[in-house]
Amino acid sequence: MGVNGRDVTVAGGGVAGLAAARALALRGARVTVLEQAPAISEVGAGLQVSPNGGRVIDALGLGEAFRAASGESAAVVLRDAAGRRVLRMALAGRGRFALVHRADLIAVLERGAREAGVTIELGARVEALTLGERGATVRMADGGALRPGLLVGADGLHSRVRAELVGEARPRFTGQVAWRALIPCPEGVASEAQVFMGPGRHLVAYPLRGGRLLNIVAVEERAEWAEEGWHNAGDPDELRAAFRDFGGSVREWLGRVERCMLWGLFRHPVAGRWHAPGVAILGDAAHPTLPFLAQGACMALEDAWTLAATLDAHDGDAAALAAWQGVRRPRTLRIVDAATANARNYHLRGARAAAAHAALRAADRLAPGAVLGRFDWLYGHDVTA
Ligand SMILES: Cc1cc2nc3c(=O)[nH]c(=O)nc-3n(C[C@H](O)[C@H](O)[C@H](O)COP(=O)(O)OP(=O)(O)OC[C@H]3O[C@@H](n4cnc5c(N)ncnc54)[C@H](O)[C@@H]3O)c2cc1C
Repeated sequence: MGVNGRDVTVAGGGVAGLAAARALALRGARVTVLEQAPAISEVGAGLQVSPNGGRVIDALGLGEAFRAASGESAAVVLRDAAGRRVLRMALAGRGRFALVHRADLIAVLERGAREAGVTIELGARVEALTLGERGATVRMADGGALRPGLLVGADGLHSRVRAELVGEARPRFTGQVAWRALIPCPEGVASEAQVFMGPGRHLVAYPLRGGRLLNIVAVEERAEWAEEGWHNAGDPDELRAAFRDFGGSVREWLGRVERCMLWGLFRHPVAGRWHAPGVAILGDAAHPTLPFLAQGACMALEDAWTLAATLDAHDGDAAALAAWQGVRRPRTLRIVDAATANARNYHLRGARAAAAHAALRAADRLAPGAVLGRFDWLYGHDVTA
């Protein structure tokens, strides 16, 4: 059947939805995106896009616009809580690791989708759906109903489409909360990601928008629950108190925080089933991840490209969607597990932290490339090849 000339409705105009919309439209589909927000606006903060995600942006023909909208990271630098260097992993020669404001990535993808002929309906919230042998019937919040040729659920963490496919998931609070803040970037901060590791806590910082902003994500283990979502305000004093014994530049940076967001980190299961007749889910809707490997947006981009390519390569949806899940689910499971393990490695205490940092310092002297080489399966992957 392929996708040429087909009607496709995408629920959700985030990274996965807009990328899938352009990928499908470039292959001849007539695509409509339904986005609940009244505007595709300035929400979110920094995202890291590693080369496996960047290759999809290039293949979508948006590489030039994306490079103009993002910065390039030269290294990932691990530091202890005092700010002393533990390991510097240079990224040169391994493809482009981008640092971008989420709103800037969304703007590039939105323009790309519209240029490819995609219709984007704003203020359009999917309320519920009914699955059937011949596809889904969608009920909108305004009371309208739709019968899409193919429904692509790209509606994020709290996906309605996922809930209908596999039931409501019961996410588990990880005992970790994350603060996000943007501050004016102090002079002299290099274009690289710095990770400060302390007992039960870590803090990641990197510059955005040509070095005008510094993006800060600070993660703390604590028993107290916090809500999951991108819009919950946090208390800057509480953030400063949680990281008061961190040294290096951290104290100065946190001193400049005027506003911050706080979100609870929850472990969600990767969905067991990603498709039904006439329906597929992708991105956070299929496999929400903890943020410790910075792969949420990259997995969404990979999913989007492979969904369009696989549908195009098969005669029927059922075979295409089964093949697609067969390829994508194992990879995303591996990435989600690796992200979960990273939190443990960053938060070590006492003797275990000392031993781990000593081993990394030795690697820093002897073979700094070797540590990053362990992630070739992740960053070296090219779904567009
Ligand atoms: C507001 C916001 C801010 C974010 N900020 C950051 C950040 O600072 N750093 C970071 O690393 N990651 C951030 N993320 C998450 C990151 O963008 C995603 O993990 C990743 O890009 C995967 O993208 P996705 O398209 O699957 O999901 P998302 O990017 O979450 O996109 C889902 C989209 O679907 C829409 N939607 C949801 N439900 C419905 C519905 N019922 N009907 C219609 N539309 C619906 C949402 O409004 C959203 O636009 C943010 C996500 C959001 C929504």
